[in-house]
Amino acid sequence: MICVSIGRGRHRHVIAEHRHLAEQGIRLVELRLDYIQGNVQVKRLLQERPCPVIVTCRRVVDGGRWEGSEEERLLVLRTAIVEGAEYVDLEDDIAAKVPRYGSTKRIVSHHDFHKTPPDLAALHKRLAGLDADIVKIATMANHPTDNLRMLEMVRASKVPTVGVCMGDIGMPTRVLAGRVGAPFTFATFHDDRVLAPGQIGWRQMRDVYRYDAIGPKTRVYGVVADPVAHSLSPVVHNAALAAAGIDAVYLPFRVPAEQIGEFLSGAGRWPLAGLSVTIPHKETVLPLTTLQDDLVKAIGAANTLTFKPAGVSASNTDATAAVESLEAAIREQDSTAEGLGVKTTLVLGAGGAARAVAFALRRRGVDVTVASRTLERAKKIAAEVGCKAIDWAARYRLPYDCLVNATPVGMHPNVDETPFDKEHLRSYMIVFDTVYNPENTLLVKEARSLGCRIVTGVDMFVRQAAIQFRLWHDREPPQDVMRDALKRATASAKQPA
Ligand code: NAP
Repeated sequence: MICVSIGRGRHRHVIAEHRHLAEQGIRLVELRLDYIQGNVQVKRLLQERPCPVIVTCRRVVDGGRWEGSEEERLLVLRTAIVEGAEYVDLEDDIAAKVPRYGSTKRIVSHHDFHKTPPDLAALHKRLAGLDADIVKIATMANHPTDNLRMLEMVRASKVPTVGVCMGDIGMPTRVLAGRVGAPFTFATFHDDRVLAPGQIGWRQMRDVYRYDAIGPKTRVYGVVADPVAHSLSPVVHNAALAAAGIDAVYLPFRVPAEQIGEFLSGAGRWPLAGLSVTIPHKETVLPLTTLQDDLVKAIGAANTLTFKPAGVSASNTDATAAVESLEAAIREQDSTAEGLGVKTTLVLGAGGAARAVAFALRRRGVDVTVASRTLERAKKIAAEVGCKAIDWAARYRLPYDCLVNATPVGMHPNVDETPFDKEHLRSYMIVFDTVYNPENTLLVKEARSLGCRIVTGVDMFVRQAAIQFRLWHDREPPQDVMRDALKRATASAKQPA
């Protein structure tokens, strides 16, 4: 069950949101009374409530906004109990001061905004001993293993327990709470109005992650990156899993560069079935894998890991996706075209994407030139894949059949930028922008206006995700669903942070 936290300053807004949530099928709501400005009218909020509530009134030290005295706060909580609230949240230091009364269930909670303490079992035992119907522990995750310790603690507990890790690193524990037996998880009314670090909105929890469909056997996939909050892979993969009816969930794992070894060594404890890998881990994961496909060996970078009984296998779906996208675009416009039909290509950028594209095009016999702001990086790729390297300023000097933007220039929010001035574009060029957010970058728009053939980053993104889907689930991916999900996510006014 998803419990939606409502934190609003005015009673009428709390009541309106509560009613709206109940109409949307939400069956439990947390009323954060510490957000109410002025006198808290507990009775007003509880009478005619449209669905059960947890009443919470947090002090600032516990991450709340309560500014009144402690005496007043205890009075608010006691009043909620007298008014018959279904649950009341009592922090561990006040649980003994607020006696059990009537039918109200007691959630005894503990928050740590700095760390996840080493002995969660001892903490849990102490909280359970405070006449708890439910134990709630929310702690900051600083390491990927904090999440595992939290989930394992919840799974082992006899008293119903909601255990979540806070922060971006801890976000997966919120989605997997039910999988380990937690009676509910917390989400917010709106993605942008988080009440604790790492929270997500209830619609995302329900519709993207399908929280209520996650059970003990649900397989766990995800994307490992740092940062990861901007990644649209969860939207795309979860939509595909839902459409295909596969019992699996795909999560964003924020793992700092230096913690990737620790994260992968804990893979069996989640257990993880597959991972998309992106910045900054594409190269550093390689020594931690047991099997590498030919593309990974040649490119020296992986964007996909598959966890098998025999070990971790690494694949690279970017290179194949780039060439497939180019080929499909060429064939769409000329059904008689054979192969790539491209002789010379200028690749802008010398990062992981540029290397995958340059490698894939070289393998198809294309004459590739890489232009990079940091010439050394372009030279390195040139030496590895057998192409040319030029300085960024030299990118306009020669004409090319095909231009590939493999830099983030033009990506949201810098949508007014282009890596290649319009005056140097030619109508005979194929212009391939790997940026997918937005799909219609300035480069794409200007190239289209000149009549160039276009390949977008959305096409490449969907194709690389589709290849991952095939690898992991051994069946055809619902590519239209993936494309629609990606387009909806990039088009929505509120871009992920
Ligand atoms: P990366 O490894 O960080 O490389 C980024 C490259 O862009 C570097 O060469 C960097 O140059 C260059 N760059 C950054 N800002 C620049 C600027 N303002 N002007 C000129 N060059 C600039 O990143 P990556 O993994 O290769 O990804 C690059 C882009 O490819 C991403 O932003 C994404 O949009 C796109 N991508 C798309 C897909 C897809 O499926 N559609 C897949 C992967 C990547 P320096 O070395 O000088 O910093």
